[in-house]
This record gives sequence, C-alpha cells and structure tokens, in this order.
Amino acid sequence: MRRALCAIMLFVASVDPSATLGNVGSPELDLSHYYSYEGVMDYLDTLAKDYPNRVFLKDAGRTYENRMLKTITISNGDGVPGKRTIFMDAELHAREWMTPMAALYAIHQLVVNFAENADLLKNFNWIVLPLANPDGYEFSRNSDRWWRNNRSPNGRQCFGTNLNRNFDVAWGQGYSELADPCTESYAGSEPFSEAEARLVRDIMHELVDNGSGTMYLSLHTANRSMFYPWVYESSPTRNHHELKEIARFATDRILRETGTQIKPKQAYYYGGMVGGTSLDYAFKVGFPLSFVFEMSGLAFGVEYKFFPPPTAIRRLTAETWVGIRALAEKAIEKYPPGRAIPAIQRKPVSNRAPGSQDLNILVGLLSTLLAYVASHLTS
Ligand SMILES: [Zn+2]
Repeated sequence: MRRALCAIMLFVASVDPSATLGNVGSPELDLSHYYSYEGVMDYLDTLAKDYPNRVFLKDAGRTYENRMLKTITISNGDGVPGKRTIFMDAELHAREWMTPMAALYAIHQLVVNFAENADLLKNFNWIVLPLANPDGYEFSRNSDRWWRNNRSPNGRQCFGTNLNRNFDVAWGQGYSELADPCTESYAGSEPFSEAEARLVRDIMHELVDNGSGTMYLSLHTANRSMFYPWVYESSPTRNHHELKEIARFATDRILRETGTQIKPKQAYYYGGMVGGTSLDYAFKVGFPLSFVFEMSGLAFGVEYKFFPPPTAIRRLTAETWVGIRALAEKAIEKYPPGRAIPAIQRKPVSNRAPGSQDLNILVGLLSTLLAYVASHLTS
C-alpha cells in the first residue's frame, strides 16, 4: 500500500513540476497573445488566489474611465519586516503593448517560478504596476493603435495627457508640444494632474518615507536603451558611475544571452532635455537607482517598434526578463541590508493630495476672505 502511494506521489510530481513546490493551480501565462485589461486583472487575481502568502494585490486607484490601477506586491513569504523594495511599472505609454506582457512575465518568474528566483526575494520585496495606463491601453488596442496618452478630456475635443511628462520635476520644460493639450506630448494641466501619475508618485513617496525604496524601473518600448537620470539636465547624478555600471551590466548580459544590443545611456543624451518624467522624479525623491528599460521591438530581423506580432511575445518578454533580472541582481548586490541609502535622499517628501484638492482649499479660503471683505464693506 505504502509503495503504491509513493508511486502515485512520484507520478504526480513528474507530470506536474509545480506540485513539488506546492503550487497547485499555478496559472499559465499565455504568451501567444497580448492580454487585454481584463486579462491582466484576471491573471493577477488568480495569482493572489493561488499564492496568498507571497502575493498581495491592491486596488490602488481608478482612472478617468474608472478602470482599476492594480498593484501586486511580491515577497518570499517569510514575514521578515523592513526589507527593501524594487518598484516596477509598465505601460505608462499606451501603444507600448509589449511592456505589460514583460511585466507579467517578470511577475510570473518571481511568483510561479519562485524556486529559480528566490535570490531576488531574499532581502527585497517587489511592487509591480503592470498596467499603469489601462484607459490608453484599451483605446490603443481597440480604436487608435498609435495612441500614447491616457484618456482624460482636455477640452477642445482633445484627450489625453502624456503620463511620463506629468511628474513634478522640471514639469512642462523641454519643447512646446508639452503645453499643447491636443498633442501626444501634453504634460497635463499641472504636475500630477493625472490619477495614474499620482499613484506612481504615491508609491514612490511611501517607499522612500519608509526607507525601503531602492530601485525604480519603468518599462517602455522600443528604442533598445537602458536609461538612467537625469533627462531634465545634462549634468551627471552624484552616483552616475554606479547607475552606469548597473545599466551596462544588464545590457552586457542581454547581449551575451540573446544577441540583442541595448544601449546604456544617461537619458538626457538620447533626445535632449525633457521635464516631467517618472525616471527623474523617482531619483529626485530618493530612489538611489532609477532606470527606464526601453525594450527591443525587433523580432525575426524586422523592426516592429511598438507592435511586434504575437509570435514574438515569448522571445521579447524572456529577453526583457534577462535584463530585469540583471538589474535586480546588481541592485541587491550594491544595496545589501547593511548599506544605508544616503540620508540626503531620504528627506521627507510632500504627499499631499492632487492639485484639484489644493484648488478647492484655495477657493474655500478666497470665498471666506471675500465674504469677510463684503460684510465689512456693506456694514
Ligand atoms: Zn514610452
């Protein structure tokens, strides 16, 4: 009887490798098509159900069209407090369809393929926002595939803010289209006018304030670059050499393992000065490491830019994971628990509500003042 039971257990373990890890019901990540908004949400929900001790989901905000901005926090489940954090987002730009797929691939590696990647979760937790601009993403998928912004109305029948120009660092500086609400470069009506950018900001602030924010990584496509700050000015950051070394380590690894060439570069020296980016903002508020990974859009020898065919998803997401993993390895090596994150970067940052709320307060104060003046004039 015991021998029969052993045989059954061995058989189960051999047909389902995850069974040996206790990962019953591991969701498959289907890399044969681009996931819809609902598909991404469903995948995350299934992970949370299957791995309740290592995955935590948060409905962290709502878009203009009332879609959910969902974050996933991934840990190794050991419950040790005070670990450092890697924060990754994807799809700030709507037409960059490969980025949410690459984020899901990374999530899958960290959660379902945990056994292979446990080193990346020993002293660090990860927070991932795989679909930072779901309204724009769905509009790009269904109506205008070249759409880049979110879908907030700007008046004059114009829609959308470029979320990666909406951050409060040299906001609105760079070129004239940033102020034009009818262009794909529109920086918004004010810094952080957009819910999606505010959410990314709030996560950054929380992680810096609790001392855990170590690396911010934003996925974009498709000019094959590994960017580090600054982009709003030409001067190097104080840890320029460290950022350059880590970016080069990752791009060398990608070249060696996949043959794809990704250029490591201070972002300013790619296209000149641009204000309002999440890359600079993360660094400005205190993440010592901040990168934009501009993924490759090359597949089968063809430059597909934003829209590689679905048959290329597997290759490009796996290639991107090679880079993400290398960045994380270096971040973990450079910032062990004993190395303090420079205090100069940990200064408390304002975490106030968005400008519209500030405006309400201002309007309230002004009306009180006017009422006071009016009552004195009439009396
Ligand atoms: Zn982009």
